[in-house]
Amino acid sequence: MSLTPTPPLVKLVGAGPGAADLLTLRAVRAIEWASLLLVDDLVNPDIVALASPQARVIHVGKRGGCQQTPQAFIERLMVRGAQGGERVVRLKGGDPFIFGRGGEEVQTLRSHGMEVEVINGITAGLAGVSSLGVPLTHRQHAQGVVLLTGHAQAGALATNWGAVAQAASQLHLTLVIYMGVRELPAIEQGLRQGLADDTPVAVIQNATLPQQRHAVTVLSDLAAMVLREGLSSPAIVVVGDVLKGLAQAQAVACENTGLFEENLEHAWTLNASTSLAAR
Ligand code: SAH
Repeated sequence: MSLTPTPPLVKLVGAGPGAADLLTLRAVRAIEWASLLLVDDLVNPDIVALASPQARVIHVGKRGGCQQTPQAFIERLMVRGAQGGERVVRLKGGDPFIFGRGGEEVQTLRSHGMEVEVINGITAGLAGVSSLGVPLTHRQHAQGVVLLTGHAQAGALATNWGAVAQAASQLHLTLVIYMGVRELPAIEQGLRQGLADDTPVAVIQNATLPQQRHAVTVLSDLAAMVLREGLSSPAIVVVGDVLKGLAQAQAVACENTGLFEENLEHAWTLNASTSLAAR
């Protein structure tokens, strides 16, 4: 009888946008399971504190703009740890597969014969916009969402902001831009080639954390507003008519209050009789 050894398992875990209670239960279990945690810098320390006291925690990566722990080094640490019998968790801000280099890490781990489990986290763009009470899609305002990086990396594909804006305008899309704060003058200029100057925009910094701040303006004032308000990274830039939605929805809700309450009363009665009948 031949026993094939099980390949080492590495978990890529999304730590969510910031607030510790936005973690998934699966992420919590993975963090508790880990004997070696490699942690990104935007991960809330309260989340790292969920690790076993025996676990080794290594902080990798520094804030954008500073020198980063080289990606190849992080990948070597993961491979070496897992080959040495450690239960390795790579803890990444937001979702591991949204601008988190998760794809590259999975590739490297698999090429070393490891198994990889990916545990999703709530991505910062989604949480940031929701924290304003604004949906990313809306039947009247946006048919879809585009998640973009605003950080033009050397050697990477440069974003054609004019083309993005035209698509957003023609197809009614909400734009959610990560890592864009430093490039805002260029992003604003490019987007104005395809979107109206008065398109609503919002910038949300430190979404879901106690220090969250945000500001809303129109596209032609985007870069100036960020300077004026002193907003900085980590921040999400949102562009699109869904931002109008909040004010409009409130107005409609007020106008329709009577009807709304009638419907609610009706639904409530139906529900109550169903659950009574079920007893
Ligand atoms: N994988 C992460 C994104 C990593 S890129 C995710 O899914 O959220 C890092 C960028 O994410 C930051 O530059 C910023 O644009 C955004 N970001 C991360 N955390 C944030 C937060 N709490 N508030 C606003 N933006 C955040």
